[in-house]
Amino acid sequence: MIIVFVCTLPYPSYTARECPAKGSLAVPCTQASGKGFEPVEFSAPARVNLIGEHTDYTGGLVLPMAIPFRSIATIQPSDAGIYELSSENFPSTRTLQSTQGLVPVHEWSDYPVGVLRELLSLGVKPPPFRLHLRGNVPLGAGLSSSASIEVATALAILALADASLSPQAIALLCRRAENNFVGSPCGIMDQFVITAAQANHALLLNTRDLSCELLPMDQDRLAGTRIVIANSTVKHSIAGGEYGLRRREVEIGQSALRARFPELRDLGEATLEQLAVCQSKISPEAFRRCRHIISENGRVRAAREAMLVGDPIELGRLMTQSHISQRDDFECSVKEIDFLVEQALSLPGCFGARLTGGGFGGCTVNLVAVEDAERFAFTLKDAYRRRFLLEAPVYICEAVDGAVRQNASTRPDRR
Ligand code: ADP
Ligand code: MG
Repeated sequence: MIIVFVCTLPYPSYTARECPAKGSLAVPCTQASGKGFEPVEFSAPARVNLIGEHTDYTGGLVLPMAIPFRSIATIQPSDAGIYELSSENFPSTRTLQSTQGLVPVHEWSDYPVGVLRELLSLGVKPPPFRLHLRGNVPLGAGLSSSASIEVATALAILALADASLSPQAIALLCRRAENNFVGSPCGIMDQFVITAAQANHALLLNTRDLSCELLPMDQDRLAGTRIVIANSTVKHSIAGGEYGLRRREVEIGQSALRARFPELRDLGEATLEQLAVCQSKISPEAFRRCRHIISENGRVRAAREAMLVGDPIELGRLMTQSHISQRDDFECSVKEIDFLVEQALSLPGCFGARLTGGGFGGCTVNLVAVEDAERFAFTLKDAYRRRFLLEAPVYICEAVDGAVRQNASTRPDRR
């Protein structure tokens, strides 16, 4: 099956926009602990990263956009005086008698419980509640279902506690929950874009100082393109260990660079020339990992320029270069993903293709001419099925808004 999301909103002309990540996002509930409280729903999108991979934990640049898959958190006070967490996507329900001494139990509920713990540490005091999650974000596909449920959960608990935080503060606390409670060493990109994204825009984020800029997806000739995501549906078991190893290699390279050039705060500020000076001090692997990150930051800057002038040829070229760098220097691609990228690049209308997300499986992101997008999706799926006997869901995506409060009448699944 091909899932097609059609972009309907034309965008008249380009204006660079400041990212509104510092305003207040959570909408307080007025009857938080009173009787007759209507369950409140918060919905958070998934995201795809157009370019800027493995740059977000070394102070670099990323360029993601929110996509029209959603996680929805419904919250209501619990009469029983306990905290109850459930999900339509998992059979187990987690019950907490109190919010003291929360520990991970290594299953899905660690994500919302980690968010609850971070909110408590900020002084947010929700009354006992029932939180229910549901959604259609593919799990573990590199489209960030985890950050999506974290952000939806944070908004729901804040609303119940009659509290609000800036989108940036929400993104940061969700990241801390994932790093410290779930134990996944992710960067800030996912949580940030899921809170701050705006429809029809990608979001350029500087992960060192969290400054950001909204870039229109439909400037000039880019208006004639679509973002197409192909889900390989594979996740290699080496992913966890290899990811940790890459992080250590990057850290070694970054330390060597800082020792030689003390003015550098992180790899996000380093140049390829500086890396070359340090080459003899680090392993060939650490050198290649850092070369990927430094060159990737350069490609994100160039991608911004391409988006500003609406040049799909240049943007696509940069995306493909990014893939080659991930494959050869960062070594985080796999044969299924390389196949999807090679096939994509051979098809009419494809400007560029690359692995998106942490790697070792997951999805590819492709920039495709709008008139070719459906045929592209069909042909790519067909080639993948014949080569690997696997179905690759392909999604033609528009860029959507970040997390929002919604009520029954605006629920996408009730339209
Ligand atoms: P990704 O973020 O790329 O989808 P992760 O491994 O980081 O992959 O996160 C996936 C995990 O997030 C799931 O295995 C589950 O524990 C949790 N999760 C995501 N969506 C939901 C949901 N709707 N309900 C419960 N848990 C969810
Ligand atoms: Mg995740």
